[in-house]
Amino acid sequence: MKRRDFLTKSAAASGVLFASLEVLAQQPASGNVVIERANSGKPHAGKVLAAIQPHSDDIPLFAAGTVAKLIKEGYTGHLIRVTNDDMGDALELGTRGTVGQHVLGNERDNQAVAKALGLQRVFDLNYSNHKMSGVSQMELQCRLIFLFRLLKVDTVICYDPWARYEENPDHYVTAHCVEAACWMAGREHDYPEQLAAGLELHAVKEKYYFSRDLTTIATNRIVDIKDTLDQKIASNIANVAKGPAGHRGSRLKAELAARNLQLPLLGNDDQTADREYIREFVLRRDREIGQRYGLEYAEEFHYIGPSSSYLDEYVKKNAVPLKK
Ligand SMILES: [Zn+2]
Repeated sequence: MKRRDFLTKSAAASGVLFASLEVLAQQPASGNVVIERANSGKPHAGKVLAAIQPHSDDIPLFAAGTVAKLIKEGYTGHLIRVTNDDMGDALELGTRGTVGQHVLGNERDNQAVAKALGLQRVFDLNYSNHKMSGVSQMELQCRLIFLFRLLKVDTVICYDPWARYEENPDHYVTAHCVEAACWMAGREHDYPEQLAAGLELHAVKEKYYFSRDLTTIATNRIVDIKDTLDQKIASNIANVAKGPAGHRGSRLKAELAARNLQLPLLGNDDQTADREYIREFVLRRDREIGQRYGLEYAEEFHYIGPSSSYLDEYVKKNAVPLKK
């Protein structure tokens, strides 16, 4: 495995940035795309990840393999769900369900998603589903800034705020608020009352942005999720109330049996049917991304990391002890 050094930064109180060196398993691919492979040990120990999703199935579908990988490599992670999924489905009931059933089913599923991915705390912000184009973005930014400071979030995984042709306002409103909150959380004049209450400034330095339509983001990071595929499948099985995964495999198996048919892929029991249905149909996108880069399964992102500063590099190279 080819490795390269990777610069990360931490902000000193003076505002001058000092670089520290970490060695991570990252491999430049074609152009400016970097392939992020599994790292041995816990290179991310001490860092905090926030997986942020408007709905209970967004992270499971598009980024669960990467979330589980980063947790496995040492991150402490938390799950923030922005809506209450009240316009979702109640698929496990076999009907469309009521608004109240959607809320309850997806709340339960979201907790199960966190458990499947090893995320510690869950925050449900409880905005109405499909209605986020009407919420106060200032309010949501303020709530996210509070959480980033409280949890000391270093890295976020969320929808790409600049992806095009995204039809769901919950996705793009959440993404834009996350992006704004990431840097404002490090600014002392933004919500100083939070600092007076005991929180500390804490800007978010790393972002993994995903999109439903991969042709609309500036892809520069491919994450190999081979080692966390089982957790990704488990997080998708957890979404039984909505989405394209959950128990669809076992339902298809039952429907086929009623017509005297079977798919060998789905095996002989419901658990196998749910798992293999997701592997074949839901993870088809991950398989196709992987094939483009010589991997089995992969997730695709626009990644923004800590930016290097000329001032930082200059001080590091040229600073000498003060003569007294
Ligand atoms: Zn969604």
